[in-house]
Amino acid sequence: MKKNFKQLSQKEIALFIHQLRQKPFRVKQIIHWIYGKLASSFNEMTDLPKELREELNKTAFISNLHLLQTRVSGDGTHKFLFELEDGETIESVLMPNTLGDGKFTLCISSQAGCAMGCAFCTTGKLGFKRNLKAYEIVDQVISVERSFLIPSPVAGGGKGEDDSQQKITNIVFMGMGEPLNNFNEVAEALWKITGLMGFSKRRITISTAGIIPKIYELAEKAPDINLAISLNATTDEIRNKIMPVNKKYPFKKLLKACKEFPLPPRRFITFEYVLIDGTNDTEEDAARLVKLLKGIRSKVNLIPYNPPLQEKSQVYRQPSENRILEFQKILHNAGITVLIRKSMGADISAACGQLKAAYSS
Ligand code: SF4
Repeated sequence: MKKNFKQLSQKEIALFIHQLRQKPFRVKQIIHWIYGKLASSFNEMTDLPKELREELNKTAFISNLHLLQTRVSGDGTHKFLFELEDGETIESVLMPNTLGDGKFTLCISSQAGCAMGCAFCTTGKLGFKRNLKAYEIVDQVISVERSFLIPSPVAGGGKGEDDSQQKITNIVFMGMGEPLNNFNEVAEALWKITGLMGFSKRRITISTAGIIPKIYELAEKAPDINLAISLNATTDEIRNKIMPVNKKYPFKKLLKACKEFPLPPRRFITFEYVLIDGTNDTEEDAARLVKLLKGIRSKVNLIPYNPPLQEKSQVYRQPSENRILEFQKILHNAGITVLIRKSMGADISAACGQLKAAYSS
């Protein structure tokens, strides 16, 4: 059976090349073509001898995600619907950092569907389909860079060789799925994205609903990666209701793990807080949040709830602007860095909690 080179580790590629009786420097060359120049086939690797390319084509291949649909929001956000080899679908979202500067944040998925069942999230309603393999996670970055940001990566000389081109500067694991429930594949993907593609660890964020043992493991195995916690409530009663994970991993233990998380100097843990009208948006909630975050170097992103576009009877609603500002003021007055996160791509169902991995119009 042909080997998928994106599925192989650096060592496995070295062994493969050795078995073809090729010189060791070919390994570096091929890896640079795949992860640096984003080549999608051996035929693009023009500095390999023709005979080697032919031999590689006979025995191996380079997988590529199948792009089914791209949707573009009025605010410049792009949503990509990808099909995996087994027919499962996932979505990735590309958001401009500042409109027009050519720099983007890419939000990627770590699972097809999600088992966590957060009540405010469309992905949660899909249920869990399967974990993504490391190469399927990395391929979201490669596919978006290749098909969208760099019109002709190979002809143009490859990623990173022209500073004026559009590029992804930040990567967030906030798409479909709970990344820490797919820890090994996510850890391998992180290694490839940083070690082989050259992204800085400081610019990558893993967001979790609160899988406490894996937070400790993340600190150990992937230090320097930014941590974000999807918190969304200040009492067990409300958090149990909107985030069932809280029954297994209560948020007070979660906050203890955050206190113990070894943060590098000048770094913070980001707490995501989806504000839902009448559920978690009172002044008491804000005051409790201030107390809970004491002793944690933190910043808070307030995310006004994004209702699913097609849902007729909405269980949850977005709070009024006044209430959102009031909530922010209480945190701000307590010295917490707090931002109201403008939901990008809400008009194309690309905002937080809206991903459903299906065609949309
Ligand atoms: S918010 Fe995240 S963890 Fe919760 S259901 Fe949605 S994708 Fe899963």
